[in-house]
Amino acid sequence: MTTRNARRGSPTPPSARPKVSKPVGDLRSQPVRGRETGAQRRLGKGYVDLQVNGYCGIDFNQEDVPVEQFHAACARLREDGVESVLATIITDHVDAMSRRLKRIVEARKRDPLVKQIIGGIHLEGPFISPVDGYRGAHPRDAVRSADVDAAKQLTAAAGGITRIVTLAPENDPGFKTTRYLAEQGIIVSAGHTDAPLDVLKGAIDAGLSMFTHLGNGCAIMMHRHDNIIQRALSLADRLWLCFIADGVHVPFHALRNYLQLAGERAIVVTDAMSAAGLGPGRFTVGRWDVVVGEDLAVWAPDRSHLIGSAMTMHQAEANLSKALGLPTKEIERLTSTNPRRALKLR
Ligand SMILES: [Zn+2]
Repeated sequence: MTTRNARRGSPTPPSARPKVSKPVGDLRSQPVRGRETGAQRRLGKGYVDLQVNGYCGIDFNQEDVPVEQFHAACARLREDGVESVLATIITDHVDAMSRRLKRIVEARKRDPLVKQIIGGIHLEGPFISPVDGYRGAHPRDAVRSADVDAAKQLTAAAGGITRIVTLAPENDPGFKTTRYLAEQGIIVSAGHTDAPLDVLKGAIDAGLSMFTHLGNGCAIMMHRHDNIIQRALSLADRLWLCFIADGVHVPFHALRNYLQLAGERAIVVTDAMSAAGLGPGRFTVGRWDVVVGEDLAVWAPDRSHLIGSAMTMHQAEANLSKALGLPTKEIERLTSTNPRRALKLR
């Protein structure tokens, strides 16, 4: 989850735990259903989405999500052409994150579809930058320095299915947690970070191999050259670079540049929150009223700031095709082949 202010530079909402309770008010369109189109239909492969916080009204980061709701979310993901996701649990106190992870593990045990679709866990936090702008909407009081014991607690709660941990390398003293996680076969991804170039390189030497939603999770105003986006792009030959392709989190002209620089190492994610798959409309997300626009970004009702993404992978594919003019094979590489390669799937 990336929340950043897109208009005024004012602080982002204090919490990053969206809960779509239920749609309210006047939905402006029918729910958007993914179709087997484009790359997926022609190549016969489903999407693999490395960052999904929730789907179709169900928030993976809420307490006490019943198995039936996980099943419903997974059924819609499958219907929308998604073969596998990493359920993304964001920063909170380690005990709270552990409880949510255990719910997912339990749901996978009890429901074959949940096990099939939720292929693993992406831990986004809590070892991220505490600095405003880089922290995004992750709750400040739960952000902490990386340490191996906390990482062990979280990965144990996830029952051995943690596939990615997003952290800020500058908040991992001695890169000990990066090294530990990489030794466990877990992808360590930089995100919500302002790591200097030498720190990024040191982290790569310790096992860092990915960058989470590049272009987001950073300050709006940065140095024109020495900024985290440029540093990450300069290391594109050593990192998988992930992007949110909704045209709002990263404008399409910038996304085009980034994808060209990332070359063979680019991956597209949705970073979808629970409003994903419901289409444009007004919703209640946690204690906020939000508006999902035609752009499928989640906005505050007054459009003063961006709260998250409600995009599906199918819609990401449409963006890559229509807005960037990418050929089918390239889209398939971004949304299916490369995430599989990163996860070392078939
Ligand atoms: Zn994020």
